[in-house]
Amino acid sequence: MKDALSVTDTLNGGPGDGGLRRYPHLFIGGEWVAPVDGGIVESIDPSTGHPWAAVAFGGPKDIDRAVSAAREAFEGPWRRMPGAERAALLRRFAELYRDFAAEMAVLETRDSGRAIRETRADIAAHYQWYQWFASLADKLSGRTIPIDDAVHCFTTRVPVGVVGAITPWNAPMLTTAWKVGPALAAGCTVVLKPAEQTPVTALELARLAQEAGLPPGVLNVVPGYGHDTGAHLVAHPGVNKIAFTGEGRTAKAILRNGAETLKRFSFELGGKSPHIIFKDADLEQAMNAATSSAWSVCGQSCALGSRVLVERPIYDRVVEAFAERATRVRVGMPLEDATHMGPQAHAEQLAKTLSYIDIGREEGAQLVTGGRRLDAGAFADGFFVEPTVFAGVNNRMRIAREEIFGPVASIIPFDGEDEAVAIANDTTYGLCAGLWTGDVGRAHRVSARIEAGIVWVNTYRYIRWSTPYGGFKSSGWGRENGIEALDNYLETRTTVISTTGRFPDSYAQ
Ligand code: NAD
Repeated sequence: MKDALSVTDTLNGGPGDGGLRRYPHLFIGGEWVAPVDGGIVESIDPSTGHPWAAVAFGGPKDIDRAVSAAREAFEGPWRRMPGAERAALLRRFAELYRDFAAEMAVLETRDSGRAIRETRADIAAHYQWYQWFASLADKLSGRTIPIDDAVHCFTTRVPVGVVGAITPWNAPMLTTAWKVGPALAAGCTVVLKPAEQTPVTALELARLAQEAGLPPGVLNVVPGYGHDTGAHLVAHPGVNKIAFTGEGRTAKAILRNGAETLKRFSFELGGKSPHIIFKDADLEQAMNAATSSAWSVCGQSCALGSRVLVERPIYDRVVEAFAERATRVRVGMPLEDATHMGPQAHAEQLAKTLSYIDIGREEGAQLVTGGRRLDAGAFADGFFVEPTVFAGVNNRMRIAREEIFGPVASIIPFDGEDEAVAIANDTTYGLCAGLWTGDVGRAHRVSARIEAGIVWVNTYRYIRWSTPYGGFKSSGWGRENGIEALDNYLETRTTVISTTGRFPDSYAQ
């Protein structure tokens, strides 16, 4: 068993100089190559505020190389490979991912600050996404369309081509699996650009792809900044599709930038999801879900129920229980097993969270608990913040409308189903919703009225490879996971064959 932080037997990794783990290469065309017009950038450990890795970042010329390699692989072996063979390679990749999961979890925790107890559990499951998509690789069938005896009409599903996958820092490996899995299963090739704050795990993923025997160029990994490397990937005429997870504002910039080439886009964007608790709910279960949903990933997940809507008769009890549970959250160093909640993933996110806490106060919300940066002792240079609860929030306040992406719960009272639905839907977002009730009829009535891509009843954040995930309204375009995910990476070709060979001469008399 290797030490968790000594995966040094790769061309790319290694502890390097000055205690920094070094990743001096990009992965392009099946080879580890130095950046042509990028450089080496230090990756910050958010629990210490100090660099822990030095990573190769690519520039536009590196993207050009990666897109050429991806195109060559697409035209060459990959799109023509029988689906069952692609499936076998993906299954091998999934196995290697599973075997490396514990170490990958440590690396993701170092890069993102997410508590190891969360990354360990999360990343241990990722291989099942790759397995699931592998199982679909030989089932990309179209359909026949009956018309009449004179024609035979059928559809085939064909891969869209070269995919640019652009991922965020909050769940780097999960959001990657959601793109790379279906893209490769569909027969596309990929250029992956991870977030600049969390580039390391994507390079480890490339190493696994190489070891699994994916043909050169099928998966290319080029870390880099969004505004140049990411933007160049988006504008590139050799890229057929961009699969993006991140902020809505970035998605709009991507749309404008990609408009010239009219490529395809799928977007997984932000959320301000309502977590609705009716007075007939099992309160213990609802509180377990609501508090975990407020503070896990240090509040930095698109799926979290950051607006907690509570029916008025139980409002005070819920606020009290939230405050009490906040005191039980163990904020600490993210690599320690006992830690529930680590730091915010980077300094800008810390500043954003703290500024929203100020905004909440100024708007007149009642700060029930938390609200401070933790910066004493071991926390001094890290980006830690207390789990925070605001009561007396109304849905017009900015803390109820804008995505904070920090461990800040806003608790909003409501009276009855209609008001719950009205508040839940009064948002530009539409990603997720949670609903707690003991009344099965209400569960159906209310969930059918919620404008969100996924509604959980008496559970929360239940996400599997087989469950479609994505947003209504400004939370996104398209769905990841489920069979639907393949639609992002396939074109439909309709073929009509005349069975008679006769085509009437329209110009005859
Ligand atoms: P972000 O939009 O700042 O960055 C995401 C990625 O886009 C990064 O790789 C970045 O380098 C790149 N990028 C930035 N500008 C670019 C440009 N002009 N052209 C091309 N690429 C560019 O988002 P973030 O802060 O990394 O992630 C947080 C956001 O992601 C939140 O809004 C969160 O809700 C959302 N998110 C959504 C889901 C989902 O499934 N719906 C999942 C996770 C995160």
